[in-house]
Amino acid sequence: MPSNRDRLIGASPRSILFILVLLVAQTAFGPAVTATPDEHDPSECVETLSSEPGGVPVTVERGPVENSVTLSVDTTENQSVLDSLWIELPPGATLKSKTGFERHSSDFLIYETVEDAQRYSLTYTFEENGTTNANVVDSKLRPFEGENEWAVAPLPVDYHGISAFHAPSNAAIGQRTVYFGDYSETTATNGCHRIRLVVSEAVDLNRNRSAILDSLQYTDRHLGGQRYDEVTIFVSPENFSAGYAGVARSADIVVSGTGKTLGESDGRWHIWLHEYIHTRQSYHPTGDFEWWTEASANYLSIRMGYRSGYLSAGRYNRILSHYGENKTGDAVLANKSTWRHLTPYNRGVLALARLDTALRGDTNGSVTVAAVFNATERDQPETHSEFMALLEKRSGNQYNEWSDDYIRGTTAGELKMKAETLPDYTVGIVVAVLLLLVGLYFEREDTDSEEASDAE
Ligand SMILES: [Zn+2]
Repeated sequence: MPSNRDRLIGASPRSILFILVLLVAQTAFGPAVTATPDEHDPSECVETLSSEPGGVPVTVERGPVENSVTLSVDTTENQSVLDSLWIELPPGATLKSKTGFERHSSDFLIYETVEDAQRYSLTYTFEENGTTNANVVDSKLRPFEGENEWAVAPLPVDYHGISAFHAPSNAAIGQRTVYFGDYSETTATNGCHRIRLVVSEAVDLNRNRSAILDSLQYTDRHLGGQRYDEVTIFVSPENFSAGYAGVARSADIVVSGTGKTLGESDGRWHIWLHEYIHTRQSYHPTGDFEWWTEASANYLSIRMGYRSGYLSAGRYNRILSHYGENKTGDAVLANKSTWRHLTPYNRGVLALARLDTALRGDTNGSVTVAAVFNATERDQPETHSEFMALLEKRSGNQYNEWSDDYIRGTTAGELKMKAETLPDYTVGIVVAVLLLLVGLYFEREDTDSEEASDAE
């Protein structure tokens, strides 16, 4: 006669083992989601530096006063190139001194060379812990004394007659940014695309660098958009003045390397991916589609983090829940005047998580928000209705209800994200309970067979 325990289990040892194998497989390999196809040619990249053949190299050094940069040109270079050389100071910079240059006009900070000068150099200052203006990287230069001197400073964006900027040791140069100070660099290459991680020696980085680069490379393979030949991530030792964790300027990213912003608990772990995705955005819609820029960067940073294996399923779900708890009330994504603090980041993540789930369900995993991102980069919709048309074209389905609820409505204000996959600890508990039950079952089987042999 079967015991109560048998009825409780209600399954053969074989089927229990089968369930166990499935659960272990899910824990090990994650949920079965169709991969987003690669949508770009690995040999196609946009040139990061507008270097000119025949131009002269410019040396970048720390200037003689605090918060300053000196640019200098070797006078032995080709005279005709020197004569046509001009440099516009980076946005937010102020001229401190010049030799061999004169100002082009009173309207712009453009400096042209003077004929037959003995020396050519420009020194400009920049704001300490500077502005949040999108054109100026937050900067900070410590006094010259002391061991941990460092600075993140802006480089000229517009110029003529320059082949490259180069720096002596203890400086890393990006497209529009220079880091002065001791640092270490780790690089990952994928076809023509190179990702540099420049970490200040003053940063105690609590993340594995190759894991960060792996997640960025995964994102590179699965996202289209603008793809620079080189993206440089500068990890700065201090927080930014405005309280945000990172900034992307064209092909350069500066992230704060302090424990607070790179920690796991504050939900901003994915700043690397977030800013990296900004480097792939070649345009910035306004009006009722302005929400897309930050929403897509934020959602895809989490999604790519999960898909690349950088984030476990449990953490992925906890981050989505974190955004679900950051309610933005009556704010409407399509109407910027209703936005509160971080509305496109929070509400946008929830809206796109919902859309992604619907898209994957409707298309058997073949269309995702990542694929839609790639399509927006190709077609560049400027309004929300153009985006909806693109969505229909790409997926073959209409998502008007989603749009009414999450983009033109306030539904997401009451939304609590439902976990898409089982959190890690849930899987762990289920496995542990099942193992316990299997153990009990086989213990009983052993007892039964002993009893049977006794009876013989
Ligand atoms: Zn952003």
